Amino acid sequence: MDLKKDFYMNSGAGDNSYGSNSKIQGLIICKSQSVRREAAVAAYLGTGPPATMSVADLGCSSGSTALLAVEDIMEAVERACVELRRQPPEFNLLLNDLYGNDFNAVFRSLPEFHSQRPGKGLCFVTGVPGTFYDRLFPAKSLHLVCSSSSLHWLSQMPEELQQKEGSPAACVNKGKVFISAGSPPCVAEAYRKQFHRDFRNFLRCRAEEIVRGGWMVLAFMSRRSREAAMMEDRYIWELLADALNAMASENLVAQERIDSFNAPFYAPSLEELEEEIEGEGSFCIRSSDHFRAGWDDDDLYYATGGAAADGVISSARYAGRMARGVRAVAESMLRSHFGEGVSMDDLFCRYDGLLAQYYAANDAAVTNVVIALVKK
Ligand code: SAH
Repeated sequence: MDLKKDFYMNSGAGDNSYGSNSKIQGLIICKSQSVRREAAVAAYLGTGPPATMSVADLGCSSGSTALLAVEDIMEAVERACVELRRQPPEFNLLLNDLYGNDFNAVFRSLPEFHSQRPGKGLCFVTGVPGTFYDRLFPAKSLHLVCSSSSLHWLSQMPEELQQKEGSPAACVNKGKVFISAGSPPCVAEAYRKQFHRDFRNFLRCRAEEIVRGGWMVLAFMSRRSREAAMMEDRYIWELLADALNAMASENLVAQERIDSFNAPFYAPSLEELEEEIEGEGSFCIRSSDHFRAGWDDDDLYYATGGAAADGVISSARYAGRMARGVRAVAESMLRSHFGEGVSMDDLFCRYDGLLAQYYAANDAAVTNVVIALVKK
């Protein structure tokens, strides 16, 4: 599996699409809004201010959240310009995602996006396909980079867990698809190493692209414990493994395919992030914070009427939302690894049931981090 080509959020606007199942990611953008807004104004004032402000969103995806963060940024800078009695800048908005992303859906939404900015300055939108673990933009060309709900994806399954040219993997995570209760210690170590390699690459590439005094605001899944094996939200993957193992026991999935699948996902601790950023050396950390995002907040924010009459959403409802959310993001890579013969409807129906049992006794919120950095 080559994630650059084989990984994309489910396209379109159907029941299983990312666009229809990204409310929690929308909430994460909202919860990190104040950090992003402050960074936008600081980046504008601290880099000139430039006549044209270049803003990149890394891992923009498609659907209702694709333009939320850049919209926010423009609004914050334009508001600051009114207070400072300055002419606002023109905006160069660069929307990045992997090659398989539904950029067409994003482009089709642009007429509406532009029409919602009457009387505002010009903004120019460009799609930039490619991986953010490589260079994506010319040197010293960006004033602000933001990314939400994307950097927890690794560039590949941890290298030490992969079979190469017929030889067995250095470490095997039998019957599991992530660092789980019962995984041997070499699994967490393999994940930690992959994260280290990837995040260093990410920082090195952005250090080339961002001008001195430019900012970067990153929000993504994180964990509170220093121990990778203690990630609070690992049940998301453990229950997916349980659903796959149940299918394997009925010969619906080959056990070997489960043993060789390790989700290319990692939720670092704050300490780990700080160590990487300080070790790479190109950025100063201006703020870093954990926050939790869950479906209850989602309903408060969106006021969609999704909550039950007593204001408490049932565990079955949480489960349905989480199962559809995980399917919208992970289906492409699961199909690619397990093959078209494995029924995604069956897998996610079982997963939904396991999540409902879990949420009957546990909280459904997920831990995130938002971190603001300035280029030295
Ligand atoms: N920012 C959006 C989308 C988050 S979903 C939101 O908040 O709703 C995560 C996105 O990151 C997906 O669209 C996925 O394709 C993208 N992504 C994952 N790894 C990536 C990489 N290496 N380079 C670029 N985009 C990546």
